[in-house]
Amino acid sequence: MSASTTTLVPTESPAGAVRPGAFGNAAELACRECGARQPLGALFACLDCFGPLEVVYADDIVLSREQITAGPHNIWRYQPLLPVPVDVASFPSTEPGMTRLVRADNLARELGIRTLWVKDDSNNPTHSFKDRVVAVALTAARELGFRVLACPSTGNLAGATAAAAARAGIRSVVLVPKDLEPQKVLTTAVYGGTLVCVDGTYDDVNRLAIEIAGEQADWAFVNVNVRPYYSEGSKTLAFEVAEQLGWRLPEQVVVPVASGSQLTKIDKGFGELGGLGLVEPTPCRVFGAQATGCSPVATAFAAGHDVVRPVRPDTIAKSLAIGDPADGPYVLDVARRTGGAVESVSDEEIRAGIALLARTEGIFGETAGGVTIATLKKLVDGGRLDPDAETVVFNTGDGLKTLDAVADAVGPTATIAASYDAFVSAGLL
Ligand SMILES: *Cc1c(COP(=O)(O)O)cnc(C)c1O
Ligand SMILES: [Zn+2]
Repeated sequence: MSASTTTLVPTESPAGAVRPGAFGNAAELACRECGARQPLGALFACLDCFGPLEVVYADDIVLSREQITAGPHNIWRYQPLLPVPVDVASFPSTEPGMTRLVRADNLARELGIRTLWVKDDSNNPTHSFKDRVVAVALTAARELGFRVLACPSTGNLAGATAAAAARAGIRSVVLVPKDLEPQKVLTTAVYGGTLVCVDGTYDDVNRLAIEIAGEQADWAFVNVNVRPYYSEGSKTLAFEVAEQLGWRLPEQVVVPVASGSQLTKIDKGFGELGGLGLVEPTPCRVFGAQATGCSPVATAFAAGHDVVRPVRPDTIAKSLAIGDPADGPYVLDVARRTGGAVESVSDEEIRAGIALLARTEGIFGETAGGVTIATLKKLVDGGRLDPDAETVVFNTGDGLKTLDAVADAVGPTATIAASYDAFVSAGLL
């Protein structure tokens, strides 16, 4: 368990009781360390051992593919598997999800992989996968009576939180490290909430958020005090991939790792679909991708450790720059249990990964996407990823938000006068 979950004493919901059905089929919160159960509420750390809490569902859920496909074309089609009310689709929301699953034959050929897909989450409302987790956290925050939507962010969560709060008509307070990419500062500030640049790393920002959350009982920090609900939003990536593959699971996935929540919930989502009989419960190896400049989980994986030792991040992949990842140990569990791995790549490899995805598939991913593509390449080249197994990689953010990463490497082929002669003499034929 990381330090971030131990320092804040759990608080009760600001509004007290929640309305019946507020969390759909979600039944309780369970501690991931000791298994102790707590009622659904604004709790996020175990009252017995301070371990992180996770949403558990009723064990009598009956759900068909037809019910899902008849639902809205966004994450709310999976409402029965999320901690949200049945009428969630009628709440003001940014409505993320059902992003495209792109068959990546060009990239597959280049890497020597037989079947490869890119789940492209850059085409969510604020251009990253964070819209999914924020939408679920916002719903929970409303049901629990919180009045402010807040977060510490490595960049993408900032914009997702500010946009969702704007649409829901509530105040947002977003804290980011002050060295954030200018594009991410702008694409958060535009929504008009409170945006605070903090002199420190993300881990410093996170500590500050935990302190504020302890003082402000009616502020929901999406990834802190409503984290059990927030993290469930990432399951929708797994649900969509399975649905888009024609109701089956891929054999391998490569997922970027910051706090590690997304990776663990993709695995959880696949497991839930198998358990409900919506797909054959076939095995899926889960691989994690980090930047070498912030690779505490990959380091622990390589060393065979169960604990993740915090690091001070130094990488261009700022969206993944969490030195003390809350879900790090659970990422290790998932990678080891499924026969996957956690690997890291250098900033140079990240830039090359961005370029490779753009050049082969016409998809401009952000630095996190570069991490994932470069890690995919490294795992294939090293013989650790099966080139014959069907593989899905996640591009979780939009390259337009991390332009600086490629600014020095790409540009116009030539600048010429407006004449055919100039075109010819510049060697452009
Ligand atoms: C936040 C983020 C991730 C990883 O999220 P965790 O759940 O914290 O591991 C991946 N990609 C992008 C672009 C992100 O912004
Ligand atoms: Zn516990």
